[in-house]
Amino acid sequence: MAVSTLSSIPQIEKILQQAFLAPYIDTLSRPVVTDVIREQVGRYKKAHIQNPETTPFSLEQLYHFIERACWQVKQQRLQRVVNGTGVIVHTNLGRSPIDADLWQSVSEVNTHYNNLEIDLGTGKRGKRKGLLQTLMQHLVKGEDTLVVNNNASSIYLMLHELAKGKEVIVSRGEQIQIGGGFRIPDILALSGAKLVEVGTTNITTTQDYLDAITEETAMVLIVHTSNFKIRGFTESADVKELAKALPDHVVLAVDQGSGTTTEAMPDEPSVASYIQAGADIVCFSGDKILGGPQAGLVTGKQSLIKQLEKNPMMRAFRPSRIVYSLLEELVVRKLNHLDSGKGVAETKSKAEATTIEQRAHRLAEGFGEQVAVVPSEMTVGGGSLPDQVDPSWSVEIDSGATRYKPEKLLQVMRSWPLPVIGVIKHDKVQLNMATISNDEVFYLRSQLAEVLQ
Ligand SMILES: *Cc1c(COP(=O)(O)O)cnc(C)c1O
Repeated sequence: MAVSTLSSIPQIEKILQQAFLAPYIDTLSRPVVTDVIREQVGRYKKAHIQNPETTPFSLEQLYHFIERACWQVKQQRLQRVVNGTGVIVHTNLGRSPIDADLWQSVSEVNTHYNNLEIDLGTGKRGKRKGLLQTLMQHLVKGEDTLVVNNNASSIYLMLHELAKGKEVIVSRGEQIQIGGGFRIPDILALSGAKLVEVGTTNITTTQDYLDAITEETAMVLIVHTSNFKIRGFTESADVKELAKALPDHVVLAVDQGSGTTTEAMPDEPSVASYIQAGADIVCFSGDKILGGPQAGLVTGKQSLIKQLEKNPMMRAFRPSRIVYSLLEELVVRKLNHLDSGKGVAETKSKAEATTIEQRAHRLAEGFGEQVAVVPSEMTVGGGSLPDQVDPSWSVEIDSGATRYKPEKLLQVMRSWPLPVIGVIKHDKVQLNMATISNDEVFYLRSQLAEVLQ
């Protein structure tokens, strides 16, 4: 019995021709879909042979399993999502989305040959940096700037080149752990530099740094404490005062983190403010407040940047033309004060609360008590501006009106064709409108209409 029904399962090649699999072949590739089919057919046969009564043969059911398995694999693909968290630079959601117009404008240089490493004047081999050094002089006041793949690489490079085998003084208050297990003390150890801790978790003065300096000291490293802020009685050394007091053989390096370059975010010290206060070199990420691609930038004294560029690890850390082209275009737009150069953090955090509220009402309209508009807060996130929250508005979904408990509703929303990431507040599902764009509202309305009855 079992044999005759199982033998009616079509060949894998025939199953691949089923119309319901065409979109999966487009997104996952034919070999990946083939593997999924093979695995599901194998499982189904096994279950049927072991338990013919509980698993009676049904081709329809087999196809259903195959489709579900394909869908699960598809969820692993990198794809657009709707950010309903109210965290603008969200590390789990790709940090800063790149402005669509900016992205378009670098398409030509990336889809053609380009002068990445040729000097168009002499025809000889040229530098990778293009105009970036000059542009950054205007933006952050550093004499010279180099780019690596992320800010963790910047820190490693600074420590390895300038402080290997020597001492680096860091305040105890800045012994922070940045997301994903990135610890300053670990990087220090890897780079071969020796950590010297000074001060206490809440107070470190200029004198604390000065007292710790020996002939072996290569660097004082100031780390912008981004993921948390110690509240209450705190004091950190004034950078200007410290810069003046440090002896010549000690480099003053700052890990600024977020890449803030405007006065529009007054609570976040900008890169330029550290340079102007006398820091020798400052490093920061490209994809936080700066609003560009993933990158690490180091800016400051030309002699130091030149030295870092000669480090053998530079070859391993150097970014691609995609990163350079995006950064050049971004900085030009910043210098010309174009909206498309501001970066998502500045644009969204400066949005009027009334605009956000109107957007919330457009989403909630017509759903009655099932969808309420409630006040909430947004944060910049991504390890920036830890204390600062700005007013926002959220829509709150009465999950009682759906078939789902809040946790389950979040999961259902993540399974929508364009996945939506919400949050639970006061036991209810909320979508924070600060990080949801106008053109996503229509989609959300139609999806909500389906789950609310
Ligand atoms: C985010 C951050 C880093 C790590 O930067 P990546 O670009 O993720 O490598 C390091 N230091 C500070 C202060 C940061 O905020």
